[in-house]
Amino acid sequence: MTGGIRERLADVRARIAAAAFRAGRDPAEVTLIAVSKRVPAERIREAVDAGQRVFGENYVKEAVAKMRALAAGGALPRDLRWHLIGRLQRNKARDAVRHFDSVETVDRPDLAAELERRAAGQGRAVEVLLQVNLSREPQKAGVSEEALPELLARCAALPHLRVVGLMTLPEPAADPERLRPVFARLRALRDSLRSAPGGGNLRELSMGMSADFEVAVEEGATRVRVGTALFGPRPGPAEEGRP
Ligand SMILES: *Cc1c(COP(=O)(O)O)cnc(C)c1O
Repeated sequence: MTGGIRERLADVRARIAAAAFRAGRDPAEVTLIAVSKRVPAERIREAVDAGQRVFGENYVKEAVAKMRALAAGGALPRDLRWHLIGRLQRNKARDAVRHFDSVETVDRPDLAAELERRAAGQGRAVEVLLQVNLSREPQKAGVSEEALPELLARCAALPHLRVVGLMTLPEPAADPERLRPVFARLRALRDSLRSAPGGGNLRELSMGMSADFEVAVEEGATRVRVGTALFGPRPGPAEEGRP
């Protein structure tokens, strides 16, 4: 990993743009989410100073602590955005609604109902993505393809939830090309669900990480979640693999 955060941001952005052009897409359609889990607030500040505006965090508690540290360290741009990309427990739903602009990991009706309750209580709407488990591993987070239409319809009926897209987190593959069919599948699901009950606002596809975001962009990603390629390897190898 060479260069500072500014150089790495420029490099990742250039690679996103090149992948978009290869697929005949407008790079402006792709939002780069800088995944800052276990990255300290000072380094997030560097990324903000380098122009990055959208950050992804996995744990509500960790994220809120860093948001506070950042705010205490000086004025922040008003267009800063936080996306929750880790598994959300119901008892964290209130803080998630309060502090995040998008919850990308809604995968079950009870969680959706709790987000609805908390959003209504705070008098605001929360943007959500439905996380889909395309690898059919039962222990993994995400709704199955089969259960997705019903979850979508139920979420769409909740007045304080705005369901705008789908997210997936496949097992990493040594060869990113192996994930191309997975990414293509998520796009096909979004496209077909647009005409299903509650699917009218589906547009976002959150897919692709450091090792495979270019393939994801070629397959239609509108959000890529990139951590290591921006911030370097994360401390705490015991936690690697934890979503
Ligand atoms: C950690 C994480 C990422 C980023 O992974 P990198 O390989 O470091 O880019 C993306 N999405 C989710 C859900 C993650 O937990």
